[in-house]
Amino acid sequence: MPVALLPPTTGSTVTLDIEALTAGPRFLRTRTMSRWHRPRSGTRRPDGRDCFTAWCGYSIGSSDRAPALTAEEVPDGELVCATCEGRAIGAGQEQQTAGGRQLVFGPRELTPPKTCPGSRRHLIRPVRGGTTALCLVCGDTHPVRAMGGPYNPRIAIVQHPPGAALVQPCPFHRWRQPTHTEGTVHCTCGRPMPAPAVKETAPCPTPNC
Ligand SMILES: [Zn+2]
Ligand SMILES: [Zn+2]
Ligand SMILES: [Zn+2]
Repeated sequence: MPVALLPPTTGSTVTLDIEALTAGPRFLRTRTMSRWHRPRSGTRRPDGRDCFTAWCGYSIGSSDRAPALTAEEVPDGELVCATCEGRAIGAGQEQQTAGGRQLVFGPRELTPPKTCPGSRRHLIRPVRGGTTALCLVCGDTHPVRAMGGPYNPRIAIVQHPPGAALVQPCPFHRWRQPTHTEGTVHCTCGRPMPAPAVKETAPCPTPNC
C-alpha cells in the first residue's frame, strides 16, 4: 500500500511539467544505501522518473542504470533509517510503531575520523634514525617528511589512518583540533585529550613459564 506524501514545498522555481506526487512507496533506498528510508515528498519528471525526498533529507531517485528499490516491508535483517522511521510515525504517515524493525542512526561526530588528526602535523616524537616518528595523537609510527612551502616549512608525519591508541576526543571539538604542550596532547580549547588506558597484561601466575 502506498503511503501519503507531504507536498514537496520549495522556495525555488519549479517548471510546469514537474508533477507533485501525493503517494509513494512505504520504504525505499538506492542500491548503494546501507539502510531503507521513507519518503516525505516526491516529484515526477516529464520522462516519468520519480524522485523522492526522504524524511532524513536524502534524495532518492532512479537513474537509467539503477532504479531505486522500493518495499512494502523491510526484508528480514535489513536496517531502517531511524530518522525517517521516527519522523514518518510522528507525522502520522505511518500508523504502526517501528515494532520489530531494526532502526539505526549513526551520529557522525561520534566515530573517529578516517584519517588520523595528527596526519601532516608536527604532533610527533622522533624515533631514532630520524626518518620516522611516533604520532602523539594515535601512537602509531610513520615516516616523517619535510612539508609546507618556503614560508611555513615543517617536518611532519605522513597522512595515516588513526592507530589503536587514538587519543580520546574533546567533548566539544571532538578530534578536530588536537595540539600538544610538551608532548601531552590536548584540544586547542585546553581540554585534555588523554590516550586510551593501555591494557596491562597480568603477570603469569606460574613461575618461570
Ligand atoms: Zn532516512
Ligand atoms: Zn596518528
Ligand atoms: Zn576542545
